Amino acid sequence: APATATVQPGLVVGSHGRHCLVESPDGERRICHPRGKKSQAVVGDRVQWLPSTDEGTIERVDTRRNLFYRQDEIRTKSFAANLDQILMLVAAEPDFSEHQLARALIAAEAEHIRALIVLNKSDLPGLFSPAWERLAPYRRMGYGVLPLSLKDTGASGLAEVQAELAGRTTLILGPSGVGKSTLVNRLVPSALAQTGEISQALNSGRHTTTTTTWYWMDKPAGTALIDSPGFQEFGLHHIEPTQLPALMPDIAAHTGECRFYNCTHRHEPGCGVIAHVEGDERNGNSDADISAMRYRIYNELFDELSRPAY
Ligand code: GDP
Ligand code: ZN
Repeated sequence: APATATVQPGLVVGSHGRHCLVESPDGERRICHPRGKKSQAVVGDRVQWLPSTDEGTIERVDTRRNLFYRQDEIRTKSFAANLDQILMLVAAEPDFSEHQLARALIAAEAEHIRALIVLNKSDLPGLFSPAWERLAPYRRMGYGVLPLSLKDTGASGLAEVQAELAGRTTLILGPSGVGKSTLVNRLVPSALAQTGEISQALNSGRHTTTTTTWYWMDKPAGTALIDSPGFQEFGLHHIEPTQLPALMPDIAAHTGECRFYNCTHRHEPGCGVIAHVEGDERNGNSDADISAMRYRIYNELFDELSRPAY
């Protein structure tokens, strides 16, 4: 019998509290606990782990390409790593929050990864058109915006969404009611069964809704989806307020036009950003290609990131 177990590579496919479900290269999964604070892992982490009786210990977390935080009611917490892109799902109804959308886009920009916006329920024409119009500024900023319908068993636009996911690790995000569960189940037919299994393993089946889960869509191709139920907002506390303009493409387009090199674009005379804000007459309003909403979000986030994080 082997005298000592050896450290093995693995991928974190589920996490709940400090426990993780780790998948070996051969597909076997087992529960692991971190050796210490430094070896606490999140979904998407590549780890080195040591098997013990029927569980395991995470010895090391491999260097991350990126790390994302979710903002819950009372705190912000890391929950996913090594993403290639974020898919923000919104719908013709319920109405979507541009603030939430902005946070997702900023979180992606800060880590230099893609963000894709998908507008679901295109089968509701009266509601879809105005929602599609609201997304026009985001298309102008260069973000991919795709229409989708998952009504009944039909689907329109699903193949286009799948093409954007191919070969990538994507975190899916969407406010409740947009059709996120419907989409996840359409993309990963075994999702429900898998979530059940993972929740059961990590949590004795109790709070199934708090488990962040990795789903393989096509393992050989490296296509995976990460869903984190109940996740509404990215934590952005690691971003400095002065970094914000560079992470908002419509604002970034005009920061070179400001009179002062250290302009915060909030109140300064000769600010190139303010000059382009729709309906803002302070600095001349040349070509208003920054929506009043986006500028308001910039100010809200600037204030939020200026306060000490808790
Ligand atoms: P979640 O809260 O985001 O997970 O949303 P669900 O997947 O549970 O869907 C919320 C509601 O929207 C359900 O009643 C779905 O049947 C409905 N729904 C999902 N996709 C579509 C769609 O493309 N069109 C319409 N009309 N309804 C949809
Ligand atoms: Zn400025």
